[in-house]
Amino acid sequence: MAYEVHVLYDGFSKMTENGMEANCSCTLIKGPKKIIVDTMTAWDKELIIEGLARHGVTCEEIDYVVCTHGHSDHIGNNNLFMNAKHIVGFSVSFKNTYFIHPFETGEPYIIDEDVKVIPTPGHTLSDVSVIVKTKSDGIFAITGDLFEREEDIKDPHLWQHVAGSDEPGLQRQNRNRVLQLADWVVPGHGPKFQVTQKMKQDVEDILNNSDNQFHYI
Ligand SMILES: [Zn+2]
Repeated sequence: MAYEVHVLYDGFSKMTENGMEANCSCTLIKGPKKIIVDTMTAWDKELIIEGLARHGVTCEEIDYVVCTHGHSDHIGNNNLFMNAKHIVGFSVSFKNTYFIHPFETGEPYIIDEDVKVIPTPGHTLSDVSVIVKTKSDGIFAITGDLFEREEDIKDPHLWQHVAGSDEPGLQRQNRNRVLQLADWVVPGHGPKFQVTQKMKQDVEDILNNSDNQFHYI
């Protein structure tokens, strides 16, 4: 367990007179492999280079780019990372070679024993999350817009209608799964948050309540 997770920039989203203003959380996973998750908008090139430099990492050293889904605020700077394998939602590629990986059947993509990319569809039908066992902070889930921000746990309107969900039933199921397995969540548009015992217990209660089982599993 030699990995560290550094959120380079906290994502945000807010409604303004002109519509929604938003950018995604951008995260560096540093260890035997170097991985960047979600590359912000196309206007954020310098921010990303600076953010990585703060941790002594250059774009050339990145081994994997993972975009949790294909929206424009999550993929804007993928072409800074020319030595990396690119995982964009369910699509895995290097240059013009595409690798078949059966995310559709629930199969995780294993980067190594401590880092895997799991399918977590819902926000779009091909969202993924990165699960990392860290050196000293437990298990991190970097989820993109599976979680908009911490507040959407108490206020589902935020993920269902503000962020929008292509498949809310599936998204709810994947949110619960991530809350069960993770100690920390890096959401798509808010600061990282710790998964509390209460959050885990609430998921337990839902799963144990057979009346609700049909809706939640
Ligand atoms: Zn987003």
